[in-house]
Amino acid sequence: MNTDTLAVTEPAPRVIHGIKGNWEMVVGLEIHAQVASRSKLFSPASTEFGAAPNTNVHLIDAAMPGMLPVINAFCIEQAVRTGLGLNAKINLYSEFDRKNYFYPDLPQGYQISQLYHPITGPGIIHVDMGGDGVRQVRIDHIHLEQDAGKSLHDMDPELSFVDLNRTGVALMEIVTFPDIRSPEEAADTILKLRQIMRYLGTCDGNMQNGNLRADVNVSVRPSETDTLGTRCEIKNMNSTRFIQQAITYEANRQIAVIEDGGTVTQETRLFDPNTGRTRSMRSKEEAHDYRYFPCPDLLPLRLEQEWVDGIKADLPELPDRKISRFVKQYGIGKDDAARLTAERKSADYFEAVAQGRDGRQAANWIINELFGRLNKESRTIEDSPVSAEQIGEILDLISDGSLSGRMAKDLFDRVWSEGGRPAELAEAHGMKQMTDTKSIEHAVDRALNDHPEQAEKARSNPRVAGFFVGQVMKATNGQANPTMVSELVNRKLGH
Ligand code: ADP
Ligand code: MG
Repeated sequence: MNTDTLAVTEPAPRVIHGIKGNWEMVVGLEIHAQVASRSKLFSPASTEFGAAPNTNVHLIDAAMPGMLPVINAFCIEQAVRTGLGLNAKINLYSEFDRKNYFYPDLPQGYQISQLYHPITGPGIIHVDMGGDGVRQVRIDHIHLEQDAGKSLHDMDPELSFVDLNRTGVALMEIVTFPDIRSPEEAADTILKLRQIMRYLGTCDGNMQNGNLRADVNVSVRPSETDTLGTRCEIKNMNSTRFIQQAITYEANRQIAVIEDGGTVTQETRLFDPNTGRTRSMRSKEEAHDYRYFPCPDLLPLRLEQEWVDGIKADLPELPDRKISRFVKQYGIGKDDAARLTAERKSADYFEAVAQGRDGRQAANWIINELFGRLNKESRTIEDSPVSAEQIGEILDLISDGSLSGRMAKDLFDRVWSEGGRPAELAEAHGMKQMTDTKSIEHAVDRALNDHPEQAEKARSNPRVAGFFVGQVMKATNGQANPTMVSELVNRKLGH
């Protein structure tokens, strides 16, 4: 297990003050992560998002009689990679079960899932809550299952439509223990899982497209007690902002029910983003309601330890480890390291710039100049107009004294809009710091001669010296090295 990388400092208990006492909320998540595969879990149909309705449907997905599911080995591999990335035990033996229910967008009349023998056992992740500490969230298991289709109720006033494109797409359901204690922790847990899966390449984590969704289980209990309260499950959420609103609303609702002398009924609820409330959808269903049984169309899945070990050896460096390495190797702060490693691409970009240069300066430039500009223009690092190589060259021009910090920023803007080699652009636009003492001295003398009264004042009052630094910078079109100018001005004034 690579859990040695983030020191655990459990956040302080979060207390909710009720009317009659203090409460704590308890949250567990069931996260549905769509496997980043080109074809479905048991059929060769495409998983492409946004295709015309019912164009990505194989006979298997439409449940035509006599069709048999064929397992997609790539999806199995992605689930194993995800399990390894979450420090989970990989089960070499797993089985697929049928979960029986009727819904118009489920032509089979059952969903193929894994109840009794899921593909992974328990795992653990660390969720950094910024200044509030690092929370350990245990993973109960991951199982694979088919997604259902989509019923469309808003296309016609009288009719509903069914789109089977999503039917049979592979989902990994990641189930956490009830280890989460606040809405922010729930959001951060989802974002951490998303980040890990994006590093692994096993799930795109695009919440708007629905390829990462969560069922959120919420209960409350009196502060400083250990037993779990009765929970409600809020279904199918795909926004971390709504998840936080839903948890807050739901915890307060349950507290009000209990303080009013009632009891919380275990049930499935829906969040309404328009009202910010949750409402009852159905009473809680139990596993036996679904008449689960092993799918007779599929053999048990047996993995070889060697194959799993091969996948493990091939895992990329994951965020926790990357952060601690960046802190050590480049001497940057943990918060900066966390920002640089948010995405694998930005971490790679940083390393390409920092290699053989001042790590802190590279981090500052990427976070402040590059990320700042990318954010402003809603771009990602992938389509950054300035490459790591170009930023590296700009930094080199600063460190060899050719450019002042100010000039370097102007050059960055030019590279951003015009492209090209920074050194050549600087040359073409006459961006060059004046560093030879003679010329600067000359400019300083001129400024002092041109303003004899100010010079007189400045001799007795060092604070007026700034005026001359400004004059010299102006006279040299901002090209004089400001540190040298300031030194010379002060020397000439006798300070
Ligand atoms: P089920 O078998 O009904 O699906 P599980 O035991 O698998 O229930 O739990 C489902 C999810 O609910 C898990 O994420 C778990 O952490 C969470 N959970 C279970 N009990 C509670 C509780 N009392 N409060 C909050 N979350 C809970
Ligand atoms: Mg469950």
